[in-house]
Amino acid sequence: MQLVYRSLLQTGYFINNNWQQCSENRFAVTNPATGAEIATVADAGVKETGEAIAAAEAAFPAWSGLPAKERAKLLRKWYDLIIAHTDDLALLLTSEQGKPLEEAKGEIQYGASFIEWFAEECRRVYGEIIPAPVADRRFMTLKQPVGVVAAITPWNFPVAMITRKIAPAIAAGCTVVLKPAEDTPLSALALAELAREAGLPDGVLNIIPSTQSAEVGKILCTHPAIHKLSFTGSTGVGRLLMQQSSSTLKKLALELGGNAPSIVFDDADIEIAVKGTLASKYRNAGQTCVCVNRVLVQRSVYPAFLEAYSKAVAAFKTGDGTAPGIQIGPLINKKAIDKVQELLADALNKGAELVMGGHLHSAGPLFFEPTIISNCTADMTLSHEEIFGPVTAIYLFDTEEEAITLANSTEYGLAAYFFSKDVQKIWRVAEKLEYGIIGVNEGIISFAEVPFGGIKQSGYGKEGSFYGIEEYLITKYVCLGNM
Ligand code: ADP
Repeated sequence: MQLVYRSLLQTGYFINNNWQQCSENRFAVTNPATGAEIATVADAGVKETGEAIAAAEAAFPAWSGLPAKERAKLLRKWYDLIIAHTDDLALLLTSEQGKPLEEAKGEIQYGASFIEWFAEECRRVYGEIIPAPVADRRFMTLKQPVGVVAAITPWNFPVAMITRKIAPAIAAGCTVVLKPAEDTPLSALALAELAREAGLPDGVLNIIPSTQSAEVGKILCTHPAIHKLSFTGSTGVGRLLMQQSSSTLKKLALELGGNAPSIVFDDADIEIAVKGTLASKYRNAGQTCVCVNRVLVQRSVYPAFLEAYSKAVAAFKTGDGTAPGIQIGPLINKKAIDKVQELLADALNKGAELVMGGHLHSAGPLFFEPTIISNCTADMTLSHEEIFGPVTAIYLFDTEEEAITLANSTEYGLAAYFFSKDVQKIWRVAEKLEYGIIGVNEGIISFAEVPFGGIKQSGYGKEGSFYGIEEYLITKYVCLGNM
C-alpha cells in the first residue's frame, strides 16, 4: 500500500491532538484480500480510555462555548481535507476492509458528506419561544450540546459509520471519545490526522483503537462524564451496552442488525428491480446492515427476474479490491466466511435450491463466490439472521398480503425495499412495512440529508438529516417570571 501522503498512516492512539504509542501492547491490522499485515496499532486499554475521557471532558467547555459558525468553519476545513485526500483514504480503506476501490472512494465522499452537512446544520440549531398561558411569564427553550459523547463503530464502513456519529456530535458542541472496530482502525486514525490538520482543538476528538472491546466498552457505558453513547454493530452487543449504560442513564443511539427484504411485485419494472436488488445485495460483498437479506419475488415474474438477475451475478468480477474492475472483494475475516458457509449449508439442507455459486472463491481464503439460492423458506436460519456475505436468498410469494407478512416476519426493522409501478400499492406497502428505511424502486438510499435508523430490534436513534444533530442536543426549558 503506497500512500501519496504518508502522514495518513497513523498507528497510535489519539488524545489531545497527540499521537501516542503503546509500545508493549499492539495489534496487527491485516489486508483481508491478501492476508498481509499492513501495520501494528496501539492497543488502548483501560488507562488510555480514562485519559481520552479526561481530555474530552476538559475540552468540552471551550468547544461547546464557541459560536456554531466557528465550529462550522473547522468542520468545513476537515471536510475539504478529506475530499482532497480521497484517493489515499480510499486505498487505506480498501487495504484494511477489502471493498473495491471505487466503492471505497464512494464511502469517503459519502462519509465526508456528513461533515459538510452537519457543518451547515449546526448553524440552524434553534430554540423556541413558547406562548405562555399566563400574562406574567415568558417561556423559551435552549438547545445545548449533551456533553462528552462516546462512539463505538463497526468495520463495514470504517469511515462513514464514524463521520455519521462524530460530525453531528462535534458540530453540536460535544467532544468525542471514539473506539473504532479492531479490524479497521487505520481509516479512523487517518480521519483524526486530518481533523488535527484542519485545526480541531485539543481533546475535541479522541480515538482509542483497541482489541479490548469489552473492558473499554464497559468504561464508556459506566463513566459518569460521558453523557451519550452511540453504537453501530450487532444487536447482541447493543443489548449489552444498553444494560451497562443503565447505571448512568446514558442517552443511547443504537444502530443494530437488519434483515432487509426486497419485494419484487408482478407489476415491477424487472430491469429496475434487478438493478436495485443487486445494488443493495452485493454492495460491500453483502456486508452492510441495509443489504438485502431476503429477495421476495411474486411467482409470475420469477422466471424473468431470475434470468436477468443470475446473468448479472454471473458477470461479477471477484478479487482484490485494488485491482481494476473488481466488484466483489473479500469478506472481513474467517468468522464471516464460516457464518456464510453455515447459513448456506443449513438452507440447502432444508430444501433451498442452489442456482449459482456456493463455494469459496479461488481468489483467496476470505473470498466467497457470488451465490444465488432459491425456494427459501421461513424455517431456514438465514431467514432470521443477517447473511453478511454475497449470497442472494430468493423466496416466492403469490399475494401482496403474503409478501408483507413474510417481509415483516423478523425481529429486525432497519431497511426494506420493494419494486412496483402501482402508486396505490406503493403507498399501501410503504405504510405496512415495519422498517425505519424504505426504498421504492431503488436500492441505494442513504444520504446525509435523510434520517437513517431502524425500529424493532434494529435499535433506535437517527443519523443524518436534521434529526441527526438533535441526537446530540438537550432541550432546556427556561421560564422568565414576574415579567
Ligand atoms: P460485528 O459482529 O459486526 O463485528 P460487533 O457488534 O461485534 O459487530 O462489533 C461492532 C463494534 O462493537 C466493534 O467496534 C467492536 O469492537 C465493538 N464491540 C464488540 N463487543 C463489544 C463489547 N462487549 N463492548 C463494547 N464494544 C464491543
